[in-house]
Amino acid sequence: MALIVKKFGGSSVATTKKIIAVAQRVLDEKKPGDKIVVVVSAMGDSTDDLIELARGIDRDPYKYPREMDMLLTTGEQVSIALLAMAFERFGQKAVSLTGAQVGMQTNSAHTKGKIMEILPERVKKELDEGKIVVVAGFQGVDSLGDPTTLGRGGSDTSAVALAGALKADSCEIFTDVEGIFSADPRICPDARKMQEITYEEMLEMARLGAGVMQPRSVEMGQYFEIPIHVRSTFTSKPGTFIRKEYTMDEKGFVIRGVAHDSKVTKMALIGVPNRPGIAHQVFSALAKENVDVDMIVQSIRNIDQNVTDIVFTIASTDLSAARRVLKPIVAKLDAMDLVIEENVAKVSIVGAGMLGSPGIAARMFGALADESINIDIISTSEISISCLIASDRMMQAVNAIHKEFFPPA
Ligand code: ASP
Ligand code: MG
Repeated sequence: MALIVKKFGGSSVATTKKIIAVAQRVLDEKKPGDKIVVVVSAMGDSTDDLIELARGIDRDPYKYPREMDMLLTTGEQVSIALLAMAFERFGQKAVSLTGAQVGMQTNSAHTKGKIMEILPERVKKELDEGKIVVVAGFQGVDSLGDPTTLGRGGSDTSAVALAGALKADSCEIFTDVEGIFSADPRICPDARKMQEITYEEMLEMARLGAGVMQPRSVEMGQYFEIPIHVRSTFTSKPGTFIRKEYTMDEKGFVIRGVAHDSKVTKMALIGVPNRPGIAHQVFSALAKENVDVDMIVQSIRNIDQNVTDIVFTIASTDLSAARRVLKPIVAKLDAMDLVIEENVAKVSIVGAGMLGSPGIAARMFGALADESINIDIISTSEISISCLIASDRMMQAVNAIHKEFFPPA
């Protein structure tokens, strides 16, 4: 007897036929006495469709974050109801519950809510009554009772957090790929599936753009020490386990993977005064609006005029918020210009093994140089190196770097 949380993404529940197949699969795998919670995303691309719908009202609907959450949470409400019906059709008792009903309490940062506490009493009660509990991913509720969402891809986080709160035996993330790969197999045909990866490395991969898992979900797994099994909806083969330490023979890799992120925007504040407190003003204003700033470079423009340029990158989805924040600052600081570049992408390598292995960065830059790809900004963490490049070279860059670190056998 086990308590298992299973999460199915949008592509796994894209049609009613697929929803029935999910129900069938869950029932096939269920052993007598197992307690099962199924977390689902909205059907197919319906979250994108809802965003498009909002664009019909205002081109920048994220200006109304509370209303965006009211709108986007409807997507998951559709899929949970249908999946619960599918279970019932097979004679399995089931109940669908929203984020609020499962006690997924978040702060009020609409469209990027953070889970504060989970009080899953209702879930436990329904499980005890022998029901499969079908939970709307991606959503929570704030202290006012308003629906919130956890950021795009947030259903992963819902699933792992709920698994943690319920002290589940495992959390399985079903997706349309077979696991975690050393690069995105859609753009890098040589990418290899990993048997396992540590939370730390997966977190870095996810943060740097590996789309399979939302970064916060990996953080949740790490926090609760819940092993996460990322596996395919369409086969029963094992996928990739995300856990604290390696248990199989995959340790010893210097680099675990190559990540890329095309949803990056570069902003440059040109010619701001070179004196204490300026960077603080700029970045605290951005932080107040929840804009995540990533790579930051400050450089001297003109010694005589004593001005500098502050260049940084943000997630493209934060562009309108960042623009709004920076406009008055540009005026106040009498900056020369605010330059926005959207045609940029970030490619990164990740691996705990690079600690204490000199020459890794040089190899990455060499792979890019061989393809004549120019590096705009470089940033590093303990276990990663990232380069900002032109977005139209991204695919070439990922393949070149992958080949350098994972030479074809
Ligand atoms: N439906 C939401 C999205 O598309 C959440 C998710 O799929 O995880 O971002
Ligand atoms: Mg989705």
